[in-house]
Amino acid sequence: MNQTSGHNSAIPGGFGIYLHWPFCAAKCPYCDFNSHVRHQPVDQARFAAAFERELAHFAELTGGRVVNSVFLGGGTPSLMEPRTVERLLNAISRHWTLDDQVEISLEANPSSVEAERFRGYRAAGVNRVSLGVQSLQDRDLKLLGRLHDVETALRAIEMARDTFPRLSFDLIYARPDQTPEAWEAELNRALSLAADHLSLYSLTIEEGTPFHTLYHAGKLKIPDQDMGAELYELTQAVTEAHGMPAYEVSNHARPGAECRHNLVYWRYGDYVGVGPGAHGRLTVGVNKLATSTERHPETWLEAVETNGHGMIENVGLTCEEQGDEYLLMGLRLVEGIDLERYEKLSGREMDENKIDDLISHGMVERIDATHLRASREGFSVLDAVVADLAS
Ligand code: SF4
Repeated sequence: MNQTSGHNSAIPGGFGIYLHWPFCAAKCPYCDFNSHVRHQPVDQARFAAAFERELAHFAELTGGRVVNSVFLGGGTPSLMEPRTVERLLNAISRHWTLDDQVEISLEANPSSVEAERFRGYRAAGVNRVSLGVQSLQDRDLKLLGRLHDVETALRAIEMARDTFPRLSFDLIYARPDQTPEAWEAELNRALSLAADHLSLYSLTIEEGTPFHTLYHAGKLKIPDQDMGAELYELTQAVTEAHGMPAYEVSNHARPGAECRHNLVYWRYGDYVGVGPGAHGRLTVGVNKLATSTERHPETWLEAVETNGHGMIENVGLTCEEQGDEYLLMGLRLVEGIDLERYEKLSGREMDENKIDDLISHGMVERIDATHLRASREGFSVLDAVVADLAS
């Protein structure tokens, strides 16, 4: 691969490329992602060709930039054959220059079939894998509709550790009937298996999902707000004690092992979004463009084959929108936001009285004269904090 040590000095936050593989073996009942189940084999060569075309389209807008991160997300990208991944990464390498520290991540599910492909992904250039483990309890894996069991997940973690320089896995907590004691034991076990990064999400009930229907019919009980807060606090205490504190609301890492791709989002960098339902943010000239593509996989495929891209949105963001997005993203990070950058993006200074008011309520903290972050309490009501600062 064509690599160099370089920087996107004009783009604070760096530059990443996201590819969305929209297929899954089954739909999990809590999931509202753009993921689809197909009962016939997916024509991967045809999809790969469409990804190549859409990448070429975005390269025309962003050619010459240095790529800090590539992320293959989904859906379930580990349903891709290694050959498909290789084609996509080769296309990226042809159009852009890869930083010599480039992070190339792939989301994988821990089924045995997918784990067998790990060596092929590594040979294609993937250097970080993010495993959707979700639980270390068989009962809860069934409840979450996952196709793997704990034993298979443990084997996949081991195989991933042996294959990739970097590994993360996801767990979902605040599950039905989960007690703090049970979560603490599970989290300690996860930390003993983890490399240097963990994503720990609390279960949320998303509209349009089977869990939403069950929840509103009273057939699914999840921990109430107080218990949710207790589980969140416990998560922070246990991960901190293990040297893996949160660097973002739901993401934990040893210092230096933060997911570079997600940092591009949260530091409000630039990213190309390719594939069905992918979103992008691109600085082109004086504009910051918001792009998105057709969500339905086969409709996207046909659009790309006809037009060279599946974009359905390509609009310049106003200064105010950019300021709001920077707040929304940056305040998720423990490192917080740069008030001078906020001013440059939004074209206005942040109201000092509002900051002082939120500080007096324990919601935000000043790091220094120009940096601000949400407090731990502020993290739990982040949307309200952002709305307050942005108003
Ligand atoms: S595997 Fe992931 S993307 Fe696919 S349905 Fe389950 S949660 Fe959603």
